[in-house]
Amino acid sequence: METKVVKIEEQIIDESALESIKEAGQILKDGGLVAFPTETVYGLGGDALNPESSKKIYAAKGRPSDNPLIVHIADMEHLDKIVDKVPESAIKLAKAFWPGPLTMIMNKSDAVPYTTTGGLDTVAIRMPSNKIAAELIRAAGGYIAAPSANVSGRPSPTVAKYCIEDLDGKVEMIIDGGQVGIGLESTIVDLTVEPAMILRPGYITRQMLDEVLEQVEIDRTIIDNNSNLKPKAPGMKYRHYAPKGQLTIIEGDSDKVCDYINEQAAAAKAQGHKVGIICTDETISAYSADVVKSAGNREDESTIARELFKILREFDDEKVDIMYSESFDDNGIGQAIMNRLLKAAGHNVIKL
Ligand code: AMP
Ligand code: MG
Repeated sequence: METKVVKIEEQIIDESALESIKEAGQILKDGGLVAFPTETVYGLGGDALNPESSKKIYAAKGRPSDNPLIVHIADMEHLDKIVDKVPESAIKLAKAFWPGPLTMIMNKSDAVPYTTTGGLDTVAIRMPSNKIAAELIRAAGGYIAAPSANVSGRPSPTVAKYCIEDLDGKVEMIIDGGQVGIGLESTIVDLTVEPAMILRPGYITRQMLDEVLEQVEIDRTIIDNNSNLKPKAPGMKYRHYAPKGQLTIIEGDSDKVCDYINEQAAAAKAQGHKVGIICTDETISAYSADVVKSAGNREDESTIARELFKILREFDDEKVDIMYSESFDDNGIGQAIMNRLLKAAGHNVIKL
C-alpha cells in the first residue's frame, strides 16, 4: 500500500489543512488507517466502532489482540453512545482534564466492538487536546481507536519521522504535525473500581487526580521494580518502549552515578561497543562516551518526558548498542518517566 504523508501545523489549520483532514476522515470512515499527532504521542487510528478497523490496527502494529485500544473522542456529547452509564467521577475528571492527556476506563456499551476492547466489557476513552486530532476525530464520525503509532514493543513516536519508519506501507495516511508536546502516553485511570485506580502513570499525576476525586489508588505493579507482578492494564505486561541496544539504569548519588557510568562506558567501548548515555542538562558536561544526550533538565521534568522516546529512537539510528541512563525521581511526572524507562531497560537497574 502507498502511504500518503501530509504536513499540518497545529497552529495553522487553514483551508488546505482542513481538506487533508477531511480526506483522512474519509479514509477512516471507509475502514482504513491514519497515523496522526496527539499531545501525548502519535496515534495509529482506525474507526473505533468498526470491528475490522481494530483488526487492521493490531496487524499493522504487530500488537497482541488481547491488548485493548483507547477510543478517542472530540466532544462530550459523544461519550454516552460508547459507555453503559457515565459515572459521576468521569464527569468531574472530564471537567478538570479534558481535552487532555487523561484516559478513563468505563463500562462499554454495545456500540463498541470487542475487537476494540480486546474482549473486555470495559472501554478506555480519551479526548485529546491536539487540534489536528480533534478535527480528525470529528471528520471520521466521532470515534477513533488509536494505540501509539509504533510497531509493538518499540518506543512510541513523538515525531512523524518514526511513524513513517514503523508504518510506511501499512497505513493509508500519516499526518505529520511536528514534535508532540508531552511525549509520554496518557495517564490511564480505571473508574469501574472503587476507589478509582491509576493503571498507567502519565502527565496527569496522582496528586492532580486526588484533587478532583476523594481518593485514587495506584496499581502497584507499575511502580514496583518487580517484573513478575501482573499489571491490571493488559498492555502494561508487555516489553515496551525498547531500544535495539541494551539499556541499564544507574541509581544513586549523582557524583557516584557519573563516575560509575563513565567507567562502564569506557570499559564497553574498549570491548568494541558503541556506547550511549542518557543524562540531564545538569550533568551532561561530566560524561564522556560515543553519544551523550541530555533528555532535559531536572528543574522541569516535563522537558525530560518530551525527549525520552525520541532519544531512545536516536540511539537506534546511531547504532548505539550499549546505553546507560541516569534515574529520575519517582514522584510527579517522574513516576511516568521512570515507568517507561524501566520498561525500556527491561527492568535492568544497578543501585549504587
Ligand atoms: P496504547 O494504545 O499504546 O497507548 O496502549 C493503551 C493502553 O491502555 C494499554 O496498556 C491497554 O492495556 C490499556 N487499556 C485500554 N483499554 C483498557 C481497558 N478497557 N482496561 C484496562 N486497560 C486498558
Ligand atoms: Mg503503545
